Amino acid sequence: MSASHTGYIGRFAPSPSGPLHLGSLLTAVASYLDARANHGQWLLRLEDIDPPRAQENAENLIINSITAHGLHWDGDIVWQSQRSNHYDNALNQLLHNHDAYYCSCSRSQLAQYGGIHPNQCVTPFVTGDAAIRLKIKQPDTNFLDRVQGAQHYITNQIGDPVLKRRDGLYAYQLAVVVDDAEQHISDIVRGVDLIDATAWQIHLQRALHLPSIRYLHLPVIVGDDGHKLSKQSFAPAIDNQCAKENLRIVLAYLQQPTPPEELGIAELLQWATAHWRVDHIPTQTALPLFG
Ligand code: GLU
Repeated sequence: MSASHTGYIGRFAPSPSGPLHLGSLLTAVASYLDARANHGQWLLRLEDIDPPRAQENAENLIINSITAHGLHWDGDIVWQSQRSNHYDNALNQLLHNHDAYYCSCSRSQLAQYGGIHPNQCVTPFVTGDAAIRLKIKQPDTNFLDRVQGAQHYITNQIGDPVLKRRDGLYAYQLAVVVDDAEQHISDIVRGVDLIDATAWQIHLQRALHLPSIRYLHLPVIVGDDGHKLSKQSFAPAIDNQCAKENLRIVLAYLQQPTPPEELGIAELLQWATAHWRVDHIPTQTALPLFG
């Protein structure tokens, strides 16, 4: 990918832990419309770096759903499972600059510290059985979310995040930051369940001297139990046969203007792009499931 892109570049970055459900469709549609309304590119990246949580064939189901809903992405799909060398390069740079460290602390040991890693490791580093953590050096961070407003995070309340797990898997925080930079992402539109992770990601961008990104965190749809729709909460897969209806439903959750009845999928998305209103997106963090 060339480094000459300017302007808006957005992305949808699903983890293949299951097929798309209404909540993930909402994120896909909102990031797509925001990119298109800004005459930007919209990229698709499959975050398939967690094999234990992956569901067989979920990648294909996700791609089929995105296609069936008329959400055409630009360029080639990026697969995180093929990008280990980029993650290793970033880790080496961080370790070399003392912005990352090896950590053998167990989850139960950290539980005594409220699950937040203290300034010093609780246990000495054990070769071959250690995670790599980011050493956050600044006391706090601030960012302005386009929907949720001003955000402030104090470092000793969020702790140093894991970048590579002790089982050898790359952590989401590392892969997402490396890939967003490599793909020249200017704008991230995603669920508010990831807003706290944004503070870590900003610290990591700074440690790697990467450009900063604008953020828009969307409310998430929650079921009757108050939990976000997800594979874990048994959210049903969306039915691709009802794509038009599904698009109308997510536009309604996002409190966007209602498109005229007669439109096909492509026209409906064009209409929604032309009428996209970020200031209509609800600022509450949880949207109860309709009906
Ligand atoms: N892969 C993450 C997920 O599906 C989202 C990544 C992101 O948008 O930053 O929850």
